[in-house]
Amino acid sequence: MQTTGDQHLVKKINKTIVLDTIIKHSPLSRAQLSDMTGLHKGTVSTLVNELIDEKLVYEIGLGRSSGGRKPVMLVFHKTAGYAVGVDLGVRYILAVLTDLEGRIVGELQLDLEGGEPEGVLKLVEEAVHSLKAGAPPSPYGIVGAGIGVAGIVDDNGIVLLAPNLGWENVELQRLLQEKLGFPVAIDNEANAGALGELQYGAAREASDIVYLSVGTGIGAGIVIGRQLMKGSGGFSGEIGHTTIETNGKKCRCGNKGCWEQYASESSVMEKARTLGIGKFDELIALARRESPEAVRLFHEVGESLGIGIANIVNTFNPELILIGNQMTRAEQWIRNPIERAVAHRSLPYSRQQAQIRFASLDTHSAVLGAAHHAISAFFSKDRVTL
Ligand SMILES: [Zn+2]
Repeated sequence: MQTTGDQHLVKKINKTIVLDTIIKHSPLSRAQLSDMTGLHKGTVSTLVNELIDEKLVYEIGLGRSSGGRKPVMLVFHKTAGYAVGVDLGVRYILAVLTDLEGRIVGELQLDLEGGEPEGVLKLVEEAVHSLKAGAPPSPYGIVGAGIGVAGIVDDNGIVLLAPNLGWENVELQRLLQEKLGFPVAIDNEANAGALGELQYGAAREASDIVYLSVGTGIGAGIVIGRQLMKGSGGFSGEIGHTTIETNGKKCRCGNKGCWEQYASESSVMEKARTLGIGKFDELIALARRESPEAVRLFHEVGESLGIGIANIVNTFNPELILIGNQMTRAEQWIRNPIERAVAHRSLPYSRQQAQIRFASLDTHSAVLGAAHHAISAFFSKDRVTL
C-alpha cells in the first residue's frame, strides 16, 4: 500500500499499531501502550476509546501500579466475532469456527469423493451454516470465511486448475460469497497451511520456511522473511509436479515422474491397494500393529519425500521445513527415512541450518490459516497492512 501524508491514513496506521499491540501484549494500560508504540498519550487515548466503541477492546479491573493511581487494563475482545476456516481437500471437507485469535470453538469434517463444483459447494455451504448456527452471540457475528483449496488459485479467488479435484476455472470466491452472504477469502491449501503455522503453529518465531502439504498431492507454501512467496501469477509452490524420474509414472498434470507420484498419500495408497488395503486409516492402523508391509510402504514414501526435501534444502536454504496435512499421521515411520535421504543428498551448509519438523497443528494447519486469512481481511477493512 502506498503511504502519503494524508491525515486519515496516518490515523488508520496508528490505530492499526494500537490494536496490534493490544492483541499481542494485552492486558496493557494506556500508559504502557503509549510507551510501547511511541505514540502520544492523548492519541492513544482517543484511539483506544474508538476501539472500545467498536467493541474490539474492553477494559478490565486494575493493573499493578508503579506508584500513583492503579491503571485500568485493556484487553483484546477476541470473541467480538468469529471466523470460519475451510480446508477443501480432495477426499474431505474440514471446517472450523474460530474466535478472532484463532481458537477453535467448533469443528466438523465431511467425507468427499471429488465431484462437480456445484455439489461440493453445496456441502461447503452446509458445513459453514451448521458452524454458524453453533456460534455464540457476538457483536460482529461471522466476520468471514477463508477457504484453502488443493489447486492453483488466482488473485480473484478463481480456482484455475485443481487436477486432483478435476476442476478448471471455478469462480469459488464469487460463488461462495453469493451463497454465504459474508466475505470469503480463497487461498491455495499449502499457502493456507504455511499461514496457519506462521500464525499459530511451529513457525511463529521463524522467518524463512517451507511448509509442505503432503496429502493426495504435494504443495508447498514458501515463506521468505515471514511473507508468502506467491510468484508473479500467484501460482508458486506446485512442487509436487517437479520431476524426480525422467521416464517415471504418468501424472494428472500431463508430465511424467512428478514427485507426488512417489511421495504423496495417493502414491502410498496405490501400493497399499495391491495388498488389499483400501484406506489410509487402515494403513496407519496396520503400521501401528507393526505390520511389516505397512511399515515398509511408509519407509519407501519417507525416502521419496526426503529426496524432494533435499532439493528444497539446496534451493532455498530455509531454517525450517514443516511437513503438514495427512502425512503427519505417519510421522513415526517416515521421519527416519526422510532424515536419512536429506542427510545423504543435500549440501552440508544448507543441511546444517535446516530443521525438518512436522506441522505442530497436525492436520489443521490449512484450516487455521484459512480462518486467519478471513480474520485479517476483516481487520484490514478499516486498517492498513503493516
Ligand atoms: Zn504432475
